Amino acid sequence: MKNPIDWQKILLECKNNIKTNIQPCLKTLKQPQPNLGMGAGGDAMKPVDLAAEKAIIDTLQHHDVSFTLISEESGIKKSGSTPEECYLTVDPIDGTTNLIHGLPFYASSIAVSRKPELSDVYVGMVVDLFHDVIYTAFRGEGAYRDGVKIESSKNAFLDDAVVGLDLNTFKYKDSISKVTAIIENTKHIRHFGANALEICYVANGLTEAFIDLRGKIRTTDVAAGFLIVKEAGGIVTTPDNQPVNVKLDPMQKLSFIASGNMQIHQKIVSLVKP
Ligand SMILES: [Mg+2]
Repeated sequence: MKNPIDWQKILLECKNNIKTNIQPCLKTLKQPQPNLGMGAGGDAMKPVDLAAEKAIIDTLQHHDVSFTLISEESGIKKSGSTPEECYLTVDPIDGTTNLIHGLPFYASSIAVSRKPELSDVYVGMVVDLFHDVIYTAFRGEGAYRDGVKIESSKNAFLDDAVVGLDLNTFKYKDSISKVTAIIENTKHIRHFGANALEICYVANGLTEAFIDLRGKIRTTDVAAGFLIVKEAGGIVTTPDNQPVNVKLDPMQKLSFIASGNMQIHQKIVSLVKP
């Protein structure tokens, strides 16, 4: 019988190895970035994305973990003798555009599940790579920022709230009416450009909610963050207030609302126009 996998240790090693592996890429950001084609999630791949992904794969293989990788970059890859026993849903770098532009907001996201389903994720880690901060959650055991327990905001009032809203490449002519009421009723709207980390900001109570209604975000970006915010006391649903339950796949896309508490969540849901 195999020993249980020490995810705490392995994920910390992943974080350290990602940081080491991407160092050479960070030094050449001012140079034109080579075109490496499209990643499995549909974005152009950069050397830094692949360097981070390699760090994750190498770390797992070093620990002799069999896994099925579900990655924004390489798509679905199997490794080891029993890859169907462990699914690793990964966005090696979330916020690559920020990184390349020198904007200090980008992350790595790793989620672990026994089935390729979002609802089955039981371990999640998001690493704020610029600030060297690690957010983790184990299902049923709470959420942590650098090992210190975190809780989402209890503020129920949008007129006193900071709410993240992803409008990037939003087809606003078709859909702006969905979000106008939220913008009009919220004290401060923000978007920093790395959804995995922005969901952790909700978990940590730095913002009251994060909303993405574009139908474009991938499970690779949110799988870890959703567990972290829920373990911190937050709520995650679809825009029509249903549980988000989709397949973990690089091509799977969704819309969601993540909130710090039920009261503010219900207000946001009521303001979203179908
Ligand atoms: Mg990415």
